Amino acid sequence: MIEVIEPATERVMAEVPRAGAAEADAAVARAAEAFGAWRGVAPADRAALLRRLADALESHLEELAMLEARNAGKAISDARGEMGMVAETFRYYAAAPERLLGQTIPVAGGVDMTFREPLGVVGLIVPWNFPLLIASWKVAPALAAGNTVVLKPAELTPLTALELERLALEAGLPQGVINVVAGPGSEVGRRLVEHPDVDKVAFTGSTEVGRGVAAGAAATIKRVTLELGGKSANVVFADADLERAAAAAPLAMFGNAGQDCCARSRILVERPVVDRFLEALEDSVESLRVGDPLDPETQMGPLISAAQRDRVSSFVPGDAPVAIRGSAPDGPGFWFAPTVLAPVSRSDPVAREEIFGPVACVIPFSGEREAVEIANETVYGLSGSIWTRDGAKALRAARAIETGVLSINSNTSVRVATPFGGFKQSGVGRELGPDALEHYTELKNVFYATEGG
Ligand code: NAD
Repeated sequence: MIEVIEPATERVMAEVPRAGAAEADAAVARAAEAFGAWRGVAPADRAALLRRLADALESHLEELAMLEARNAGKAISDARGEMGMVAETFRYYAAAPERLLGQTIPVAGGVDMTFREPLGVVGLIVPWNFPLLIASWKVAPALAAGNTVVLKPAELTPLTALELERLALEAGLPQGVINVVAGPGSEVGRRLVEHPDVDKVAFTGSTEVGRGVAAGAAATIKRVTLELGGKSANVVFADADLERAAAAAPLAMFGNAGQDCCARSRILVERPVVDRFLEALEDSVESLRVGDPLDPETQMGPLISAAQRDRVSSFVPGDAPVAIRGSAPDGPGFWFAPTVLAPVSRSDPVAREEIFGPVACVIPFSGEREAVEIANETVYGLSGSIWTRDGAKALRAARAIETGVLSINSNTSVRVATPFGGFKQSGVGRELGPDALEHYTELKNVFYATEGG
């Protein structure tokens, strides 16, 4: 059994059967069996089933949010928002089965046409930080395109994925279309990557494990999409609305306790306004409400595990330049107070490595060119923000920063209808929006001769 721990109390909240490679094989066989029928479901009927699943998720939103908040230690207000987006994601992709259009292409001697066809069985491997949300970004487009899926949640957070499987059956999706296998990455995850009957793997997790997934998938030339780590920059120019930028920064760094691949954990601030920005930031960090995830007022909960807390602590040794430290409860729970280090040199490991916790660093810069240079000196390129009142400068910097997602005068990264994914070692492929569907289909080209023999 897997003992599922509640990070705010350190108590066991559930036990679920621990699957291994044999269970992964069985799930792949069920998915392969279900594929023929599922791809044959009329597009309008497949769309209707996805909408019914969205309805079921919405009607169970509160219990799913409670489960996710307790298991992942996230603020209940965030968990409710995430569950709302899960339902929205299924509803968005419910429009796809009837809109997976091909083309006719003018060629000599006949008619040429293209079709978007499903891949088959898709293996989905997801992390613990946004368990059901990230799963939905993969399951919904995969099913809409006519694939069946085997979903492996992280061992620490299997509960909402298991609920998804149950709700899918309740909503009328055929058996075998969604198969959830909760078990360790080294057994279940690895098996999905290597399995000859899995046609594609969509992985979200660390860059390190992602590298192994890409290498493992090469043996069977599997399609692979990867959403990996990040070390995103929040660039604050001197001409920005500093109050707004400082008010928005804490949630961009400390939302989900900083365990967010999009966390803007490097705050690049133009030299003349560093002190003013830090002053404004102090208020917003110190007033951040850190505590019981189930309290509706809470903005930040604990870290996921003791191991994660140890890792995060290692980035803040005794002589670290702590400029701001928020509060955190004592007692049981994997707590870590929101921490801002300033000033930090751009070459410091804390400015380069993904911390995945509530620790951010302030790096001063001089001028637009240096801001872009610093923003780009990382192996990652996932997300980021730019704050300035100069629209042309904002757009120049936005084009020059090597990142998949960027927001100007805003701290948000993710919308159901827009593409999300990384440059460089932050990943391969895109999720969400219409582009994700390309990663769950093959493009077939058929030529029909109308002239000659
Ligand atoms: P992780 O890489 O340790 O694990 C991710 C998943 O992979 C888990 O389900 C795990 O069990 C599985 N896994 C582990 N070893 C495996 C193997 N050998 N073969 C196949 N699967 C294996 O990551 P994590 O600690 O769960 O999550 C944190 C990381 O995820 C961070 O680096 C974060 O930036 C990244 N992340 C990225 C995005 C994004 O969209 N880019 C979103 C969220 C998290």
